[in-house]
Formats: sequence, structure tokens, C-alpha cells
Amino acid sequence: MNTVPDYFGSMVFGDVTQRSRLPKDTYKALKKTMSEGKKLDPQIADIVANAMKDWAIEKGATHFTHWFQPMTGVTAEKHDSFISPFGDDNVIMEFSGKELVRGEPDASSFPSGGIRSTYEARGYTTWDPTSYAFIKDNVLCIPTAFCSYGGEALDKKTPLLRSMEAVSKQALRVVKLFGNPNITHIKTTVGPEQEYFLVDKKDYEKRRDLRYCGRTLFGAAPSKGQELDDHYFGAINPRVSAFMKKLDEELWKLGILAKTEHKEAAPGQFELAPIFTTTNIATDHNQIMMELMQKIAPEFGLVCILAEKPFAGVNGSGKHNNWSLTTNLGDNLLEPGDTPYENAQFLLFLCAVIQAVDDYQELLRISVASAGNDHRLGAAEAPPAVVSVFLGDELTAILDAIESNSAYEQSEKVQMKVGVHTLPRFPKDTTDRNRTSPFAFTGNKFEFRMPGSSDSVSAANTVLNTAVAESLRQYADRLENCVNFNDELHLLIQEVIRKHKRIIFGGNGYDDKWLAEAKKRGLANLPATPDALAHYLDEKNVRLFETHKVYTAAEMRARKDIATERYCKVLNIEARTMTEMLRRDILPAIGNYAGRLCEYAAAKKSFLGFGSTSEYETAANLTTYSNELYRKACTMEMKIDEVNDIADISDRAFAYKNVIIPLMEDIRKIADMAECITAREYWPYPTYGDMLFGI
Ligand code: ADP
Ligand code: MG
Repeated sequence: MNTVPDYFGSMVFGDVTQRSRLPKDTYKALKKTMSEGKKLDPQIADIVANAMKDWAIEKGATHFTHWFQPMTGVTAEKHDSFISPFGDDNVIMEFSGKELVRGEPDASSFPSGGIRSTYEARGYTTWDPTSYAFIKDNVLCIPTAFCSYGGEALDKKTPLLRSMEAVSKQALRVVKLFGNPNITHIKTTVGPEQEYFLVDKKDYEKRRDLRYCGRTLFGAAPSKGQELDDHYFGAINPRVSAFMKKLDEELWKLGILAKTEHKEAAPGQFELAPIFTTTNIATDHNQIMMELMQKIAPEFGLVCILAEKPFAGVNGSGKHNNWSLTTNLGDNLLEPGDTPYENAQFLLFLCAVIQAVDDYQELLRISVASAGNDHRLGAAEAPPAVVSVFLGDELTAILDAIESNSAYEQSEKVQMKVGVHTLPRFPKDTTDRNRTSPFAFTGNKFEFRMPGSSDSVSAANTVLNTAVAESLRQYADRLENCVNFNDELHLLIQEVIRKHKRIIFGGNGYDDKWLAEAKKRGLANLPATPDALAHYLDEKNVRLFETHKVYTAAEMRARKDIATERYCKVLNIEARTMTEMLRRDILPAIGNYAGRLCEYAAAKKSFLGFGSTSEYETAANLTTYSNELYRKACTMEMKIDEVNDIADISDRAFAYKNVIIPLMEDIRKIADMAECITAREYWPYPTYGDMLFGI
């Protein structure tokens, strides 16, 4: 085991392994199940399970688990060993098709938003054969979806798979109109770029805020931040490099296409981008990637922080979700082609995305809403909470020309008629460099930049897939029955541009002027999670998901409740951690230091006959701060109780936003000022400087 191709995918029951270990018929049946979503014959499932088990045991596995993604946001697993009694005093290793295909975890402690209590207490997991089984820590992990007995989705994978089916179905109708009979299946592809921070484990352990909340609640800005841009793409130091090397190796063994790694803008911040793959697989892989980052970092004395905004004043972390559509022939439908027809098809798919983002901008915002991500979106940071689409100058000019029936000028003037003319070639890379856009076209894919770094990308892609499916459904309905296809297509594209161009914006997304302009255009600005969630059950959103059978209204209500509750719980933990840190660490530290200063001053006065201004004034200021902090801690404790007494959960979420968060900000400001005038040896926590520049 030395070269990468030797061990790449060695811990995955992937295609090559399947082909070599399964009888030909079984292999074929399994492939059919995978490509067509057919149910697997129980006998075949037995053969697959047995081969999987033999392979896993050879690799050292002793247990198996149905690996799933409940609404907690992290993955869940419950290990069962393969052992089965044999004779009086021995065991054999067994694993049946039934165990492979379906599991019944007692999952009553996973959030269900009230769905489960109305049915059975148990849920069940079903195998997702399109995402390969893998071995992690001597456990054979079988990627599964998780549902209630009534069939309601209790996880993040089920709706994602449903949305992939929905978009495939509608996209197929559209490509058929362009006359390609060999296209039988269309899938969405995703490449999620993962940002993260690394801090020294010793520092991490000293900070209750990092340990409990994943982000710092206190910390004065260091004298140096990211202003010199000297971290971005900088040389990687040996410790971090060793961590990345190990991480790559482990990811590659699991068949995960870890590709690009670099330092990000903030000190201590990094990024790892994989090569894109089918959406559900990319989502599974991203979950494993996050898990391994956190697991491997401590081996190098580091802790990996995935929170969206671990440090105030420097950039937060996101997860840029690169998204496109690919046919079973391998053609990317968002790639401009060489013939007028290919280009017309490209333009129509482009329009479908533009319309989807405009029509369902609130849902896209909701799909990335969390207490942590609110510190990025809507704060003074990229990208803003207003959703808009960036197309680049060239493509915008082409759409303008089509819309207004005017000539598009490149090397020569061409009157663009969709379906008749070839698109002028536009250089791919002019499109990529607007970093402030939440939704940017980057040559042959869209990059959705709003997802938070710690979040699963399933929710965002579920919305995106379904919203695009809806645009495509409308287009197919109209074009399937028209008289003159080319004319109708041209008209349709013109109409879509006219109606949805308000969502297209090429300027600076951080600028306040854009927020005013966006308001004029009627775009939604939903800065905080409660604002966003208030729109989740809007009639058009429920209709969308029901039409495409992605969520039932009951599932949506459940999801809204889970997200709202989670928001409240996260803020509750943060607010309580804050008061705990104040009372048990910060106030005593300030008191100690102020006391020491007073002792010195008194001693000086009795010895020298005069005191010391610096000691008196510093002690006096510290005492003012500590009095204020003490009073605010008392207020916070009272307010937390008041807010938690609010019965309606949405009202409670708004109270957290409007009452608790401002109080937290107040407290922090004072504590950070106190930190700045307290001797280093007295301050109970590693500073921002220690953490950001300490690795
Ligand atoms: P950059 O954004 O740094 O210029 P790229 O645009 O090449 O880099 O790729 C960024 C991410 O987009 C990578 O994870 C890549 O695999 C992914 N990506 C590229 N093509 C597609 C596609 N057709 N569908 C989904 N993701 C893609
Ligand atoms: Mg990119």
C-alpha cells in the first residue's frame, strides 16, 4: 500500500470490488437497482450482503451499522456485531440481506418535529444502494435513509433523494424536446468546498465557549487580523500539512475525491474541496469529511472547528455548493454547446435555474438558516442574506440581447434568435470572480455560497433540485404542446428573462446600496433564522414540495419546528455558557487583578507617599466593567427564564433574536474591553491572538 491508486477506495465496497466479488447476475441486478431505483430482490440482497460481509471481515470489520443522517445535523450509527451463536461454544459471522436492506433502530430520541408521536415510536432505515457501503473504525457502514413507520422522512437524505428524482423527471421531459433519445437519466452533481478553522488543542480545552458552543463568545480583537491578506493561499506549515496529509489518506481510502486544499482568508482558516460527484454521494462524503477532520485533528494536537463564525472580526466559514445537472451520457446541461440546439438547451436550463432562484429565494435562504450561519449571512460578511444570481458580464449581455431583440455585439453583431444561432463563445473565467454573490454562475455550474460550514448540504440541494424541477415542469408543459418549437422557445426564454431578471445582480453584494436596491426590486431580505423560518410554510412553498412529492405538508411543519427549536436551544446554550464564563472565570479574574493593583497602589502610597495613577485608574475601570458585567449577568439569567417561558416556539425564537442576542452582544463588548486592560497572566482564556496565530 503506497501509491494513492493502490489504496484509493480500499475501504469502500465500490464498483470494482462489487464486480470482482459478486456473481455476474447479482452484479447486474444491483447496478439496475442503482441506476433505476428498482427494489432489490430479497435473494439477491442476501448474496450482496454475504459478499459485503466477507469483504468487510477481511478488512478487519467486526460490526455493521446503518449509517444515517437524522435531523440533528450529524450522522448516526448504532453498531451490531456480525456474530451469531454456533454450537454450544462458538460463533459464526453472519449478515443477511434483510439486515442490509432494512433496519429498525430505536430512534425515539432523534428530533421528529412531532411526526413520530402520532405514529409508531420506532423509525426504520432503508439502504441507499447508490451510495457505497464503507468501513470506518472496523464497522461496515451502510448508507441509509431514515423514515417513520408511516413513511415520513425523519432525516436529511430521504427528501434529497426525492428531489433528485423530481428534477431528473422534469429535466428528462425537457431534453427529450431537444431530441436526444439516448438520454434516460439526469442527475444533479455537487462539489461542496469545505472551509474550517484549526486551533491548538491546548487553547481549545481552556475555552468553555469553544467546547460547548463551537465558537468564541468572548475575545478582544488582536492587533493583527486578516488585513494583510497574508494567510490566503499562503504556505502551509508542517503541522497543518501533516494533518492534511493524513486527512487526504483517510478520505481517499473511503473513495472520497479530496482534491484542493489551501489556506483561507482568515488566520487559522483552511479549505478542502473535493471533485464533484452525484448529489447524494457528495452529501454523504461531505458528512464523512467533516467527521474525519474533527477526528484526525487531535492526532496533531489540533482541533478542527466547523462553526460558521468561531471568531468575531475575521471571516467565517461556509460551504460553497457547486451544482450542476449531468445526463447519463456525461453531458453537463449547464455547459454551453457547439450547435444552436445545444445552446438553446443550455439557455433554457440556465433560465430554469434563474427562475427557480427568484421564485423560491426564501426557501433557499431557509435551507441554510441556523443560529451559527446568521453570523455570516446578514452580518457584515459574505454573502448577504439577500439571494441574487451572478451571471457575469458576457452572459448578462447575451440575455439582455435576447430579451430586447437587440443585437449582441462580440466580434461581430449578431441578432440572437434562440435555437437558430450559435451562442457567441464567451470565455469561461470572466464569470468566476464575483466573490460576493450568493449564487454565481461559474462557467458550467452554479456556486451557491450561502450554506454554512457545519451544515449538511442536503437541505440546500433539496430546495435547489425541487425549485429547478418546478421551472422545468412549467417549460415542458408549455413546449410539449406548442406549434412551432423554435418560436415558442424563443418567446419562453424572453419571458423568463423579463420576469426574473430582478434576481440577477453583478455588483458588490456587501454594499448597503445593494440592500436598498434589492428592496426596490422586491427581493426578500431575511437576516436572521426566525425571519427566514416564518416563510417556510408559505403556500407557494408547500405547493412546490407537494407537487414534486418531496415533502408532505406534515413533514414541512415538522421540519420547521425542528429548525426553530434548534435555533432556540443553540442560543440558550450560548447565553448560559456566557453567564457561566462571566460568573466563574471572568468576574473572578477581573476582581483578582483589580485587587492586586489596589494592593500595589496602597503599598506604594504607604512607602513612597503617593500612589500610582496607572494602578488606580486601571483598577477603577476594571471595577466599573465588572459591576456592569455582574448586573448584565443577572439580567441575562432573568431574561433566559422569561424567554423560555414563551409557549409558542416561533415567538420564542424571535425573543431569542430580539432580547437575548443584543444582550449577549452588550456583555461581550464590555468583557472584551476588560480583557484589553487586564494583565495577560490574569485573563482566564487564551486570547484571539493565541488562537488565530498559535498553530
Ligand atoms: P474554483 O471555484 O476554485 O475556480 P472549480 O470551479 O474548478 O474551482 O471547482 C470548484 C468546485 O466545483 C470543485 O469541488 C469542483 O469539483 C466543483 N465542480 C466542477 N464542476 C462541477 C459540476 N459540473 N457540478 C458540480 N460541481 C462541480
Ligand atoms: Mg469555486
